[in-house]
Parts: sequence; structure tokens; C-alpha cells
Amino acid sequence: MLRPIVHYGDSVLHTPAAPVTTFDDSLQKLIDDMIDTMYAAPGIGLAAPQVGVPLRVFVIDLSVGKRGGELITMINPEFTTREGMQLEEEGCLSVPGHNATVARPARAVVKGLDRHGQPRIVEGDGLLARALQHEIDHLDGLLFLDRPRGLKRDLIVRKIRKQQRAGRW
Ligand SMILES: [Zn+2]
Repeated sequence: MLRPIVHYGDSVLHTPAAPVTTFDDSLQKLIDDMIDTMYAAPGIGLAAPQVGVPLRVFVIDLSVGKRGGELITMINPEFTTREGMQLEEEGCLSVPGHNATVARPARAVVKGLDRHGQPRIVEGDGLLARALQHEIDHLDGLLFLDRPRGLKRDLIVRKIRKQQRAGRW
């Protein structure tokens, strides 16, 4: 089932999410819905706060469902390693129509739990390292817009405010 994606300005996106403590049916339903919603958008990653749920859960699939075995589901993730730096243009399903160049680690290792509560580790470089950092930022109440400095961020926020005032956000 698809869930509506909330946009910049919704408080759930700007508040740190809580750890998952119960691996029940409603968590399984949330994860299934997040996967459906990510693929339908389409997007390569989605965090639970983006569908209005303040829990530490994200899904990533760089192939957007086109290749089997690339779907990553992580619960209560934490970085164990972040190395290097990459600068690339980035966007977000919660900030539609706006992109900015964001500094991210070139390589990242994340440990957490899978959807059944079993420990797992994900290692990524390049785009996957970027996606891991982007989604964990969501769980910490940060958007990619909170990363670039100065003028670019101010410009995007001004444009969003204008869209909000016009009822087009
Ligand atoms: Zn995002």
C-alpha cells in the first residue's frame, strides 16, 4: 500500500526519530508500504519519517526494484565507519524539484537490524555511501538541505516558502 510522502516543513521531518523496540505486524506492514512507496515515487531510498512515522527505519534500493537482491532494509542503523568525501548533486522525495551539491562520505559502514530484528552490516561506497548518509540523516531529523551552506540553501528555502504560500507545496 502506498503512503503519502510528507514534504519539507512537516515537523516529523525535522525531529529525531525513535528506535524500534517491537518487531510486530505493524512494523512489517510499515516496511512493505515504504518499499511500495519508494518504488512508486520512484526513488532509491525512503526513511520512515518521510511517510510520517517517527521510527528509525529506512529502505534503499539503488536499482529501484529493477535488480533482485539490491533492496536494503535497516532498523536502528548506526555508522561504524565513515571515510573520505564526495561532492555530488542530491535530491529528496520530501523536497521535490530542488537539488543541491552535498558533501558526503565516500565510503560508509552501517550496522543495524533487518526487518526481523537480526543484526546486519551494510558497506557502501559512492552512491550507496551517499544514500546511507542521506537516510540516516532523515532519522536524525536532518534533510539534505541542512547540509549545504549559505546561499544555495537559503535560495531553495526561499523558493519552497514561495511555493507554500501559493499552495503548491
Ligand atoms: Zn530524502
